[in-house]
Amino acid sequence: MFQENSTAAALDQMAAQTQAATSCDTSRRQFINHAGRGLLAVGVATALPLASAEAGDLGGLGLPAATGPLDVKLPSLSAPTDPKSEDPFNPDAPDRRVGFAIVGLGRLALTEILPAFGKSKHARPVALVSGDADKMSKVAQQYGIKASSCYSYQTYDNLKNNPEVEVIYIVLPNALHHEYTLRGARAGKHILCEKPMATSVKECEEMIAACQKAGKKLMIAYRIQYEPLNRMAQKAVREKTYGTTKLIQMMNCQNEAHDQQWRHKKALAGGGSLPDVGLYCLNTTRFLLGEEPTEVSAQIYSTPGDDRFKEIEENVSFTLRFPSGVISQCISGYGTFNAKSYAVHAETGTIKMDPAFSYNGLAQEREHAPGGKQTTEKPSNPGKDQFALEMDHMAECVRQNKTPYTPGEEGLQDQRIMEAIYQSAKENRPVKLTIGVGKTDAFRGTPPSEEAS
Ligand code: NAD
Repeated sequence: MFQENSTAAALDQMAAQTQAATSCDTSRRQFINHAGRGLLAVGVATALPLASAEAGDLGGLGLPAATGPLDVKLPSLSAPTDPKSEDPFNPDAPDRRVGFAIVGLGRLALTEILPAFGKSKHARPVALVSGDADKMSKVAQQYGIKASSCYSYQTYDNLKNNPEVEVIYIVLPNALHHEYTLRGARAGKHILCEKPMATSVKECEEMIAACQKAGKKLMIAYRIQYEPLNRMAQKAVREKTYGTTKLIQMMNCQNEAHDQQWRHKKALAGGGSLPDVGLYCLNTTRFLLGEEPTEVSAQIYSTPGDDRFKEIEENVSFTLRFPSGVISQCISGYGTFNAKSYAVHAETGTIKMDPAFSYNGLAQEREHAPGGKQTTEKPSNPGKDQFALEMDHMAECVRQNKTPYTPGEEGLQDQRIMEAIYQSAKENRPVKLTIGVGKTDAFRGTPPSEEAS
């Protein structure tokens, strides 16, 4: 039943034990559930021995193969007047989950993506691709990935012979997304590609065409569009909870290390703060409104003499105009203190997200005046892992043959608009846009099933 000693396998082990314990007393069931949560908290490495030692026992539990979520239920812990306790974590059985190959073992892969598989219900890591064999071997051991499922960039194409891999998740520098998507599609795999999709409209179009030709799905990893608080903000905007939205302000700024890194090389990054962090302002504005901009105007400034900004831009200020009349003002910075927030100003209320784009700790405030009294409401953050939600959406799209909510077309549209932003700054004039204008959610696919609660 278990093909590997992964965190995911360990979680299923716990869930299976919980299911097997349904005839036992409540305290035992609660113990098992808490043990499962503890497993998530303590991390992958400590989880592995348990999975390894006990994996063989599962056969004896008669766990059916490929039947979907185990859907374990537990009796209520608290009175109905107390806050509702969380439902058990109900992941799919390992042999039903979609196998992912992670390409590039840098900061994002190691700090966010691989750990997120422990909170994923439908995805599991089954292969790695890296240029550093030593690092890959250590990571493979941490996540229970077979040595035979570890590839170099040269042997990447051999993924085609690995039936466990259904999705390739590309977590490489921006300029490499194009090549690895084309090769991945040729290997017959679905592609989940990190943002920004690529470094030019032409590359984006070729990536879409390659996946279409191969009959494979292409999703861009816009995690914010799967994150519950941002989805709640989108719902409030779309349902006009506070009347018509008129103005939006967004910022995504960080102070870059002075060390040499690919993000400061135009050939690898494609640009500076705009495609890296400013893209969140652009993409999230479009996500909230469901509209496409008709015009952009922009200014760019980089501090003279700062080595980081010899090839790429430091600061970008851009304004997007939408058919409904909404104006969105956005700023991105690579040389200022961490600031990642937005405010949506509507007729009868304001929705603020601060932080809006971080990996965790996001917070929302809504200001309005019910009964004439200025009131601030703070919806609680469900605290879901954004990367797990995003990967689960991709896995569901693969299993249910749906178009991802953020397909390649969504990344292409952002690239078109970013090129218009650069053009506007260069020519010091507004640039008109027409593609997708007049349609709602012109480039999005099926919304994620795990809705904000
Ligand atoms: P990183 O530099 O930490 O990792 C990049 C990896 O690519 C490294 O392991 C490096 O060895 C490898 N690599 C392969 N070929 C390379 C080459 N020619 N030059 C440099 N490195 C090469 O970067 P990261 O922060 O993990 O970013 C990777 C991708 O993920 C980027 O596209 C970035 O925009 C995206 N990203 C997304 C988020 C998000 O929240 N969705 C956050 C951070 C990064």
